[in-house]
Amino acid sequence: MEIGAVENHRFRESGSLVYPVYSRRSRGLSVGLNLFPDRKICSFDCPYCEVFPFRSKNNFSHETFEIELRQVLDQAKKQKDEVRDLCFSGNGEPANSPHFAAALNSAARLRDGIVPAADIVVITNGTGLLNDDVFDLLKNSAAPPVSLKIWLKLDAGTPSWYQAMNRSAVSFEKLIAKIRDFSRCAPFTIQTMVCAAEGKAPSHEEKKAWEDLVLDLAGGHNITNIHLYGKARPAPEDPLTEALPVSFLEERAASLRSRLADIPGISVPVEVFP
Ligand code: SF4
Repeated sequence: MEIGAVENHRFRESGSLVYPVYSRRSRGLSVGLNLFPDRKICSFDCPYCEVFPFRSKNNFSHETFEIELRQVLDQAKKQKDEVRDLCFSGNGEPANSPHFAAALNSAARLRDGIVPAADIVVITNGTGLLNDDVFDLLKNSAAPPVSLKIWLKLDAGTPSWYQAMNRSAVSFEKLIAKIRDFSRCAPFTIQTMVCAAEGKAPSHEEKKAWEDLVLDLAGGHNITNIHLYGKARPAPEDPLTEALPVSFLEERAASLRSRLADIPGISVPVEVFP
């Protein structure tokens, strides 16, 4: 695969298991790892989701995954392209895939051998934490030698906004309770999509509830970063969700920063990716 030619995420919808992209949040070359080459499988149904409907006859093959990942990493090294991270995201919720544990193990081994400075990242909606095995896998992998970077989605502070943004059958209360447990035992980044849904921006009540929740999680001293990101790419359900002005995201970030500053001993960067 010609790394320099790949600048978007559409490869994952053609059945690719490994797709290098230039990522705004990774600030460089990110090697996407897709455990769902045949169809989207996710416990959320976010209206802003960028995965377009697709069909592929490719089934996930661990052997192919390893071969493709090795090829991409070898080529990046040859081209002197700095790989910032190997990132599990793709067409669904990676931590809920039965292949996640083995694929993570392979990714760590290949990272260590070819691009040891690269991070391994999983972008997760957190529902895997409801499964004790996945909870333990994520917790243990966050520590060395894997040092997995966990970017955990937390779009809402209230059940109603959670349903607007994530449309999930998973109970908001149960999910938040598990995320709270996790925040007491492993480091992670909170990532929050800030956009309008059905023409409405998140309300003041929602904003306050989200801040209260983030402050509570930060109290466990394991939140490493907070990312507020805007809707920057097309989604199949457009215009159900729409981008909000950058100033809206910046105000949300500033408000959170000011509340975090009131808590002694806590210093968490809050970044905006419009
Ligand atoms: S959690 Fe991610 S993959 Fe799942 S529906 Fe939401 S945006 Fe799409």
